[in-house]
Amino acid sequence: MGPVLEVVRLLLPSLCPVCRRRAECHPVCPECQQALEPGSPLWAGRDGPVDWVVSAFRHEGVPRRALSAFKFSGRTGLAGVMASRMVESLDGIPLSGAIVAIPSHPVRVGLRGFDLPAALATHLAREMPDLELATGALRRRDFGGQRGRTRSGRISRPPRFDGRLLGGDVLLVDDVVTTGSTLASAARTLSSNGAGQIRAVTFTREV
Ligand SMILES: [Zn+2]
Repeated sequence: MGPVLEVVRLLLPSLCPVCRRRAECHPVCPECQQALEPGSPLWAGRDGPVDWVVSAFRHEGVPRRALSAFKFSGRTGLAGVMASRMVESLDGIPLSGAIVAIPSHPVRVGLRGFDLPAALATHLAREMPDLELATGALRRRDFGGQRGRTRSGRISRPPRFDGRLLGGDVLLVDDVVTTGSTLASAARTLSSNGAGQIRAVTFTREV
C-alpha cells in the first residue's frame, strides 16, 4: 500500500473484522462488541476425565462469526477479546496449575500461520497470572488422519495426543467444543501423565 492510500486508510473507519461493516472498531464494531458482551456462560458437567467445561457463548451469531474471522481470515487481533470473555465465563472460580491449549494440526498451523487455541491460551495466561502456561504439554499424533473424512467420521475419531509429565491441575483451552471428545481425549493423556483435576474453557459450544 502506498503512503497516500495508507493515510486514506487511517482516516476512514475500518472494516469490522466480524461483520465487515465500516465502523470504528476496537477491535470490532460497536454492534459486534455488544453481541460479545459477557452473557450467560454454558456449563457442562463431568465427561470422563474432564471435571467440567465452561464456554463463553453458544456457537452461533456474532461469536461464531468472530471465531470464523479468526480461524479462516487470520483476524488474530480478536484473540484478546475472546480470551477476556473466556476468563469472565470462569467467574472468579479459583484455579491453579497449568493452562494447556489443545494442539492444532501442524499442517493447518503452517498454512494459517497461527495456532488459534494456543493464541487464546497465551492471552488467557496473561489474565490469569496464578496459572502457568504449559506450552507443549500435549502433542498431536494423528497427522493427516482427519483429512477427507466425513464430519461424522471426524467426530467419532477424536485426535490422539502424546503428553509430557505434568503435575498439578490443568485448565484445557480450545476455541469450540462440540461433542467434547477432543477435550476428553486430551484429558485422558494428561491424566495418565500425572495431571490432577482437569477443567476446560472454550470460546463457544455447539449445542
Ligand atoms: Zn461488526
